[in-house]
Amino acid sequence: MHTLSLIESPGVSGAVVGRDGGVSPAPYDSLNLSFGVGDASEHVRENRRRLKAAFGIGVLASARQVHGDEVWVIDEPLTQDTELAGYDALVTNQPGIGLLIQQADCQAVLLHDPGHKVVANIHAGWRGSVAGIIGKTIRTMTERFGTRPGDLRAGISPSLGPCCAEFVNYQIELPLELHGYQVGQHHFDFWAISREQLRQGGVREERIDTIGICTKCSPEYFSFRRDRVTGRFGSVIMLAPAA
Ligand SMILES: [Zn+2]
Repeated sequence: MHTLSLIESPGVSGAVVGRDGGVSPAPYDSLNLSFGVGDASEHVRENRRRLKAAFGIGVLASARQVHGDEVWVIDEPLTQDTELAGYDALVTNQPGIGLLIQQADCQAVLLHDPGHKVVANIHAGWRGSVAGIIGKTIRTMTERFGTRPGDLRAGISPSLGPCCAEFVNYQIELPLELHGYQVGQHHFDFWAISREQLRQGGVREERIDTIGICTKCSPEYFSFRRDRVTGRFGSVIMLAPAA
C-alpha cells in the first residue's frame, strides 16, 4: 500500500493511499475504495478492510459524495462502518473514526484542530470549490466545537494539478472570482484556489501543506480524466484512540 502523510501532528493521522495493494481487477486495480464505480462490493469491502488495518482505524465513516456542500458532523461514537448519501465533508470529535474521502482527481482537504481535538475531511472538486465547501466546513467546526480557524492545520491531497486541470468551458463553469487562477489557455490552479479559500476561512498560510502531486500525471493514483472508467483512491484522517 502506497501511503503519504498529509498532516503530521501528535494525536492525529492524516494520509492519502494510492491505488496499489488491493484486490480489485482492472479497470479498478487494485485498491478501489468506492462502492459506486461498478466494482464488486466484496472487493471494495476487502480493500477498505486493508485500509483500516494499515491505519489502525476502528470505524470508517464515508459518504456517497455528490459534489455538493453538505457537512456530516459525527459527535457520537459509530458502532460500525457507515456510508451516508449526499455529503461532501465529514467532521468529528470522536477518536478512532477514520473519515474517508474517495477521489479520482478531486481534492481531499484535511483539517485538524489540535486544541479542541476535532478533524475534518473535505471533498473539494471544482463544484465544491465554487460552492465554498471549505469555508462552510470551517464555520461548522467553529459553531459546533468552538474551533478557532487560526489554530487549524490543513493538508491538501494529490488531485488534478494546474498541468492538467483544463476547463474548456470555464467561462460558463467557473465564476469570475476564480478566473484569476488561470495558469494557461484553459488551465486553472485549484491548489491555489483551496489555499486562498482556507486563508479566507482564517487558516494561517504557514499551517497549510500542499503535497503538489497531480493525479492525472501520477500512475500511483486513480484519475478520472486519464482513464474515465476507474476506481477511487482515498484520503483519511483520524484522531488517535485514547491510549
Ligand atoms: Zn498533471
